Amino acid sequence: MNMTTINAVQNTKYDLIVIGGGIIGTSTACEAASRGQKVLLIEKGHIGKGCSYGNAGWMTPCFAMPLPMPGLLLKSMKWMLDPEGPLYIKPSLSPDLAYWLFAFMRNMNEKQAARAIAGLVGLSKTSLTAYKNLGAKHPEVHFEQKGLLMVNRNKAGVAAALDEMHRVADHGIPGKALNSDEILALEPALKGPFAGGVYFPEEAMGEPLKVIEALASDLKSKNGVILEECEFLGFNQSGAKVNSISTTLGQFSAEKYVLATGSWSKDMSRMLGLRIPILGGKGYAIISPKLEQQPKIPIMYLEKKIAITPRSNSLRLAGTLELVDQDFSITERRVKAIERGSREILHLPEKIQVQEVWRGLRPCTPDGVPLIGAHPKLSNLYLNVGHQMLGLQTGYGSGLMMADIIDGKTKDYDMGLFAPDRF
Ligand SMILES: Cc1cc2nc3c(=O)[nH]c(=O)nc-3n(C[C@H](O)[C@H](O)[C@H](O)COP(=O)(O)OP(=O)(O)OC[C@H]3O[C@@H](n4cnc5c(N)ncnc54)[C@H](O)[C@@H]3O)c2cc1C
Repeated sequence: MNMTTINAVQNTKYDLIVIGGGIIGTSTACEAASRGQKVLLIEKGHIGKGCSYGNAGWMTPCFAMPLPMPGLLLKSMKWMLDPEGPLYIKPSLSPDLAYWLFAFMRNMNEKQAARAIAGLVGLSKTSLTAYKNLGAKHPEVHFEQKGLLMVNRNKAGVAAALDEMHRVADHGIPGKALNSDEILALEPALKGPFAGGVYFPEEAMGEPLKVIEALASDLKSKNGVILEECEFLGFNQSGAKVNSISTTLGQFSAEKYVLATGSWSKDMSRMLGLRIPILGGKGYAIISPKLEQQPKIPIMYLEKKIAITPRSNSLRLAGTLELVDQDFSITERRVKAIERGSREILHLPEKIQVQEVWRGLRPCTPDGVPLIGAHPKLSNLYLNVGHQMLGLQTGYGSGLMMADIIDGKTKDYDMGLFAPDRF
């Protein structure tokens, strides 16, 4: 974008400025523009190249479990002792980590889990419908509704899968328990035997970057403006209102502002006078060419927490959760663990041809629920951050929810559950 265009953007008063161009910011901006608002979306890098870029692409309301599920404590201690386990917490004396762990433990109870599941399923179901419509308009999104198969080698894994099935069934998500023969009949590309599994027939997937590009293109078609390589630096306030924002490309102003900066949001706590306990939960994806025995449906190998996504020309193996905050390094051992775990249940070639190893930082809150709502003190500032491992599946729904909140329509939401000032 040249200087004349940037000057024109600076001289325009927008209805809404959205900060952060991941799935959350882009869907928020797109929905507001669809409702007739004049929207500016700013992104410090390139649209969709943060955590939303290489995720598994799952749009799966059955995965609406918040991170601190009851019973996770024992399991996570076991995982932590295993250097290749799916969960790792980088030791640190940081008060942010201490607070996060304290709040995480406090939220590990049935009452909170039930409330969080209801809220997250709601966002996921709204998103699924919205993605289906987006996929119909933009075939490049590769929206496919083939269901999702959870498989397990051991009985504890089966018990966990059945527990998830029953919890989401109460919210209208159908699932069917399967034995090993039924799993192999449904997905012959798997290596059995299994202790059991669950098939959720209505779950979907899409190509994550293409989803964001489709939303960005819809945003532009509704007169929205996107500024890339424009880093937000701070809010300029007068009294209890934000007047403008300062960025690396100058100042911009709007009637209202939404912060959607994913795992970078914690650093804005002091600036906002608000505790935003978001830690980066690093995960990896290995992208390889399509297998000779390519699975047909997405598969979750539950006890290893490995997400296997078959695409038309490739295979994506994703997993691990390393609570590390802003550390983007790649731990080779954990990448190998994803490959080894996948090999247990898939017919991988002896040496897989890796096209890309990607890592992303999931914005993780200690109660496993995003912060969606108005800032408690600044009357024209809103937050939509902290979507942890579910940012794609809840993303579009959170954009619709944010637009409703800005329009004052809050009665359909459990606003306390998502309240930005709850910590
Ligand atoms: C391995 C892996 C697999 C996953 N699989 C799935 C899945 O299958 N389904 C699912 O639902 N979720 C999945 N997730 C989680 C999902 O990817 C995230 O929840 C989601 O991407 C978060 O979106 P976001 O928009 O909040 O963050 P991001 O995509 O990270 O976007 C935030 C944006 O804000 C920008 N930004 C930050 N600071 C500033 C600033 N100062 N100024 C301007 N811009 C700024 C960043 O550059 C970034 O582009 C997975 C995650 C990982 C790591």
